[in-house]
Amino acid sequence: MDDLIKKYNVPGPRYTSYPTVPFWQKPELKLSEWRDTIKRNESFFKDNDISLYIHLPYCESLCTFCGCHKRITKNHSVEEPYIDAVIKEWKLYQKLFNSKKNIKELHFGGGTPTFFQADELIRLLKNIFDSDQIDPENTELSFEAHPNNTTKEHLTKLYTFGFRRLSLGVQDYSPLVQKAINRIQPFEQVKSVHDFARKIGYTSISHDLVFGLPKQKLDDIIDTVKKTIELKPDRIALYSYAHVPWIKGNGQRGFDESDLPKDNEKRQLYEVAKKMLEDEGYIEIGMDHFALPHDNLAIAFKNKTLHRNFMGYTTQNTNFLLGLGMSAISDSWFGFAQNNKSVEGYKELIEQNQIPIFRGHILSDLDLEIRKYILDLMCHFETTFKEDSKYKKLHREIIERLQEMVNDGLVKIENNKVIITDKGIPFVRNCCMAFDQDLPREGERKNLFSKTI
Ligand code: SF4
Repeated sequence: MDDLIKKYNVPGPRYTSYPTVPFWQKPELKLSEWRDTIKRNESFFKDNDISLYIHLPYCESLCTFCGCHKRITKNHSVEEPYIDAVIKEWKLYQKLFNSKKNIKELHFGGGTPTFFQADELIRLLKNIFDSDQIDPENTELSFEAHPNNTTKEHLTKLYTFGFRRLSLGVQDYSPLVQKAINRIQPFEQVKSVHDFARKIGYTSISHDLVFGLPKQKLDDIIDTVKKTIELKPDRIALYSYAHVPWIKGNGQRGFDESDLPKDNEKRQLYEVAKKMLEDEGYIEIGMDHFALPHDNLAIAFKNKTLHRNFMGYTTQNTNFLLGLGMSAISDSWFGFAQNNKSVEGYKELIEQNQIPIFRGHILSDLDLEIRKYILDLMCHFETTFKEDSKYKKLHREIIERLQEMVNDGLVKIENNKVIITDKGIPFVRNCCMAFDQDLPREGERKNLFSKTI
């Protein structure tokens, strides 16, 4: 395994989208181009189903491992005008849509959603849904909960509105690691939020752990997983720390490069955690995720209905993800659009009654076909080439590019099907790279993507 890690641990995309963001071809996407893709979606799919992601960017302090778009402040007077802007953005989109949308899922991400007072979040929700409460059977509502500032009031008010899912940002329980990443949150703190959420009826609690953090040793991950198992969350995300200081600048310079575990050590952290989780009955799902068999994510994985979008893995297979808020990304299936990446720029455009997008991509027929293959691989570890495709020559080239992974026992090709073997699961990103039509040579990828393993 060590040799394979050495061979395949190269910079590569995480494929939250295809084409990946650095290869989007519209650095200045026009509103008319974006609107056309929305119209195309509406006439093609006709179901009116939509997923909503709302980016809430503020945090009280900076975690040094962070790769998110955020704004650090302790000044809470920013809450009200920001929520006003998001409401206004939603109203601008409502005018653009042909018909009323069915919101199948909504996720609050950040930043720190729980930086905002519960009442501000509820005001936002009431304006989005035009209702005081929604039926959790029809719409899946979830939020990222920071253990240090999620209050009983947040948990209760959001539950009453219809939320049943939350994810707690844990990362690692070691005090040394927590100091290195500037995020001090003892187990008791996480436990108290987790237990209260369970007590009042949240049915899907996720814990987000990270491996490959500065100063993180094998004993730390073992202790972190042990404590996590004690609370039995329904889902666990085990993310690889993505070291991308050329993108995130100072946010990722709070420690020395020599504090990071080396390639093989890092993979060992994952393998040990994975074994512990599987021994407890968790099922590995797609890339970086685990769930107990009763959880919808595990059921969707088993039934091959799992979907993945910019929010991560999801059971709601809508064909339109609308991202609201500063830096949020939308996906109309036929196009991608990203909102302005500064709070000021975003709010200024909203004040001028403009949909605040700045860059994006319009998907070609080839993009759409490759995107489907990559999505299949990321969700189900297999994909089948389309029989009636006009890109058969390309299929043959992809198979050739996969030959080395076939020889190493990581991939199997059966007729028109590409299957990632059990041994190949850690290398799923490498397999997707064989399909990627934009991928530059290895040397040129160095400052674009984190390493694959
Ligand atoms: S990890 Fe979360 S809480 Fe920490 S700075 Fe990043 S967005 Fe904010």
